[in-house]
Amino acid sequence: MLATADALGLLLDAARRVDGVERIDTLDALGRVLAADVISPLDVPPMHTSAMDGYAVRAADLAAASDAAPVALPVSQRVPAGHTAGPLAAGTAARIFTGATVPPGADAVVMQEMARASGDGSVAFAQAPEAGEWITRQGADIERGAVILPAGTQLTPQALGLAASVGCASLEVVRRVRVAIFFTGDELRMPGEPLAPGAIYNSNRFTLRALLAKLGCDVTDFGIVADRLDATRDTLRRAALEHDLILTCGGVSVGEEDHVKPAVEAEGRIAMWQIAMKPGKPLAFGAVRRGQASEPDEAYFIGLPGNPVSSFCTFLLFVRPFILRLAGVANVAPRVYAMRADFTQKKGDRRNEFLRARVNETGGLDVFPNQSSAVLTSTVWGDGLIDNPPDHAISAGEMVRFIPFSELMR
Ligand code: AMP
Ligand code: MG
Repeated sequence: MLATADALGLLLDAARRVDGVERIDTLDALGRVLAADVISPLDVPPMHTSAMDGYAVRAADLAAASDAAPVALPVSQRVPAGHTAGPLAAGTAARIFTGATVPPGADAVVMQEMARASGDGSVAFAQAPEAGEWITRQGADIERGAVILPAGTQLTPQALGLAASVGCASLEVVRRVRVAIFFTGDELRMPGEPLAPGAIYNSNRFTLRALLAKLGCDVTDFGIVADRLDATRDTLRRAALEHDLILTCGGVSVGEEDHVKPAVEAEGRIAMWQIAMKPGKPLAFGAVRRGQASEPDEAYFIGLPGNPVSSFCTFLLFVRPFILRLAGVANVAPRVYAMRADFTQKKGDRRNEFLRARVNETGGLDVFPNQSSAVLTSTVWGDGLIDNPPDHAISAGEMVRFIPFSELMR
């Protein structure tokens, strides 16, 4: 059995970014991954702008201003946002508004609360401003030529705003990762169907499809495949054709009804099987052949265990970073937080445990009482996973490694 860190390393080393990029509207690019750096063609702001409603001045003109001896200047122009400004004549002030261009020659803005306008067209100041005050300098946010978003960035709402702020109407992104998925188990029925004795609902289909949707994958769902070697091999062959990754659920353990591993061995190869983790031990990784023998080519394969908590956890910890790598994402590691355990936990075995836990009101962690890999309730109750090393007992008050679900579903 491989340690979880070694298994993840092996998986990520094998993941190559998919070929194919496309240029799409920035408005449609949420969640997509940049195929190329976004470089700013302009300074932001593109000119010196006022950060306040007030008066643009030459600071030197007001050097002597004080409460006892205010200095009055005639107002020589008015500059609303979106208009150009003429040079500021010495000894005068310009009425100016937030976001408006600072007139050439002016080197400070005095906010209107600090100025007193009189009816004769002049304005009085009782304080000397510092040079540069309330002016946002050209290029203060972004300089022309700067890489504002590097290739491999997954586009968030704020990244789209940043790209738009330098005028990018479209972006070059990596094409979506194509994933084929199927489910093994003669006991599986779909919600809506009656449950015969011995049958259960295919809950994993819903969890896994939703997780794939969150990652922005193009998904082909081959449904439930019978627990037979020929049926499994046939589905693998068809799934390999137009997909980057084949994801299976169930049938990857050691029972006689587990046909996924032998089927992959017959149609391709298994590179890794069984990880020292709980839940999720039977995870398998490999590849399925595709195309002509003259052009050797293969689709990646990941076989998830059937137990609902196992498939959920192994997806989050292994499939998610793997798919992100295929999509070209640079940083795929979730943030891990050191948090206080407000419970005790007996020493486990030689497997790395991932405990479903929840943040309590005092900022510590509680664990769900039933950590069975069949108890899906724990995943809904929890806020994330405690990454507990092999052979380790947890005592109350100890700091543990906590990975929030929000980090695992970004
Ligand atoms: P397996 O990995 O096929 O040995 O399945 C392990 C356990 O998970 C068994 O109790 C299965 O009934 C259950 N299981 C397998 N696939 C699913 C699924 N798609 N949805 C819910 N439970 C499943
Ligand atoms: Mg099964």
